[in-house]
Amino acid sequence: MADAFEAMRKRMRAGFDDFPILSAVLGVSKESASCDCQKRYNTFELKSRGTGKARAISAPCQHLKLMQRALLDRILCHVAPHDAAMAFVRGRSIASNARRHHRATHIFTTDICSFFPSITAAHLSPMFEKRFRHLSSDAIKEIIDLVTDEGRLPQGAPTSPHLANLVMFDFDERCSWFCDRLGAVYTRYADDISISAKDAETLRHIASVVAEGLRALAMQVNPEKTRHLGPLHRKTVTGLDIGGERIRPTRTFRKKTAALVRMSVRYPDKMQRHRSRVCGYLAFWHGVDPADRELAKLVSAMGLDDWTERILAASAFERQFDGTCDYTLGGQIPF
Ligand SMILES: [Zn+2]
Repeated sequence: MADAFEAMRKRMRAGFDDFPILSAVLGVSKESASCDCQKRYNTFELKSRGTGKARAISAPCQHLKLMQRALLDRILCHVAPHDAAMAFVRGRSIASNARRHHRATHIFTTDICSFFPSITAAHLSPMFEKRFRHLSSDAIKEIIDLVTDEGRLPQGAPTSPHLANLVMFDFDERCSWFCDRLGAVYTRYADDISISAKDAETLRHIASVVAEGLRALAMQVNPEKTRHLGPLHRKTVTGLDIGGERIRPTRTFRKKTAALVRMSVRYPDKMQRHRSRVCGYLAFWHGVDPADRELAKLVSAMGLDDWTERILAASAFERQFDGTCDYTLGGQIPF
């Protein structure tokens, strides 16, 4: 019994000794990487600020996280995601994703169910063999062990976002190629797929290609989040309004934020405890369109004139890009 426990404990360790090839290459010191934690991953629920929905997060222990971060920065980042992959890449955001569909008349949007956990070693292995040709099969095995939890990408590891983008590369390429030929536009923001086209017929055709591609990857779409929108609908992409002069947060969001600011001005004492939430909404808005005049008025009404861009940039809106990757095209992979 004690032996079985010890064996299990050893298996769960993310220590330096479990990754001989990687630890040598990554230059992580033995002291900082050796791990005696009870669990490799800590699982908890996190409520999204925007939607209020709870997501299950599996956060790696600090030692494992250090190794994953080094792996991301030194090896994984040398391979770039597709141009149509809009999430987790520096310089791309929900706003630049929405901008590619600005003023489209017909939009198809869909959402891949539990995106990171649906990516398994079976997706990662061929991707590594194809994109990281310098890696030996032993190194690939070590990497896959380092970045997966029970054979799946954990929601909460710094390596998961970029790896998910790389696994989706061929799918992105196929969808983009197909859309190009039909004068349509394809983008993917993490699990959110958006396609805009000139007519409904083209869009239906492309939607079937997308569905087929996802089936081939053993991924499922969320039917509740799948929409075909035509000229008469108010259209949003990654939660942003794409029908107006500029890309903006939705009217509902803007009205709610403006109402909260008015309340904060009128009842500063009562609203004090909601202040950080209101500032979070303003910061989100700022991230979408920093030059918005309606926003400038609200920021000044809140007495936030002294807020520098830096403070706003460090806000909640930016935190979702934790896994952002500075990939360097054509860089030297240290193998
Ligand atoms: Zn640890």
